Amino acid sequence: MESWLVTGGAGFIGAAFVRMVHASRPDVRLVNLDLMTYAADLRRLDGVEEGPRYRFVRGDVCDRALLDALFAQEDFRYIIHFAAQTHVDRAVRSGAEFFRTNAYGTQTLLDAAAGAWGSDAGRRFLLVSTDEVYGALGISGRFREEDPVRPSSAYSASKAAAELAVRAAARTHGLPTLITRCCNNFGPLQHDEKLLPTLCRRAAAGLALPLYGSGEQVREWVHVDDHCRGLLLCLEKGKAGACYNLGSGLELDNLSVARLVLEEAGLPQTRIEHVADRPGHDFRYALDFSRAAAELGYRPASSDEDSLRREIRRALALYAGRRP
Ligand code: NAD
Repeated sequence: MESWLVTGGAGFIGAAFVRMVHASRPDVRLVNLDLMTYAADLRRLDGVEEGPRYRFVRGDVCDRALLDALFAQEDFRYIIHFAAQTHVDRAVRSGAEFFRTNAYGTQTLLDAAAGAWGSDAGRRFLLVSTDEVYGALGISGRFREEDPVRPSSAYSASKAAAELAVRAAARTHGLPTLITRCCNNFGPLQHDEKLLPTLCRRAAAGLALPLYGSGEQVREWVHVDDHCRGLLLCLEKGKAGACYNLGSGLELDNLSVARLVLEEAGLPQTRIEHVADRPGHDFRYALDFSRAAAELGYRPASSDEDSLRREIRRALALYAGRRP
């Protein structure tokens, strides 16, 4: 049985990844390292039991001694690094914690991995990054992996810093690294503070749906399971040192997302409330994911409007206190 380290596996995407691998790969032992910040929720891991195939460790990716102890105990083949501070609104209020976790934490994990693995080509260190590192697009075009990073928030700047640390470790130590850049994820059990849960929670309570500024900002939406399948493909087929965009092609402005929520909730379209825009709010992100499609066989088959509507209905039912 091979062992994989997942960081941030009690978060929204990390937990979906743990559930998927636990269900589909009986030959894999997962070690989930999570600090259990406000964003973590172990209910996301219901049904994933402690045992030979799963171990939970509460701890900080910034803690080098803890990481060294883990590397001494486990022979990790893969590291899938999700752990991060992720909410941009919080980064606007204070960015320092973002740099501690996302930049310093990634560097600490890289140092530990380089110490344990050296340049062993059979291993993979995968940083789960974001389309936000590219900065804003206008109404046309799609980001390609070669495009420069031009982050707009302390969140995206700290993720870009993590990416640079990954590239440096690949150059300095020959560490076999991978970077994926994904768009907005939707799916079950996302934290209440994020856009889609906020809209659904408020709609379920019959309240107005707040939107930053005009609501014309465009985001690309991918189902979390498509993202996780993309990460698995990347681990198995990705070229060491490469970066892959994981998009979906499902582009919607925030106004349209709010309208879908109102429609599914049976509420009038007038329930949208425009609030002061977020400082540095990027207008549009969109990914060209042809490299992942060609090299990995990545196909985001569950990321269409029907699937987004299903998730909205599930969240509305959950917030209304009914079984989803
Ligand atoms: P999340 O906020 O739901 O979860 C983050 C998890 O990391 C939490 O369980 C938290 O306890 C843990 N964590 C935080 N600091 C830690 C530390 N110092 N040590 C160990 N664990 C720590 O995040 P998410 O939405 O699941 O995102 C996961 C990753 O995917 C992040 O790296 C994020 O940048 C990236 N990403 C997210 C999206 C999205 O739409 N949510 C899109 C693209 C990329």
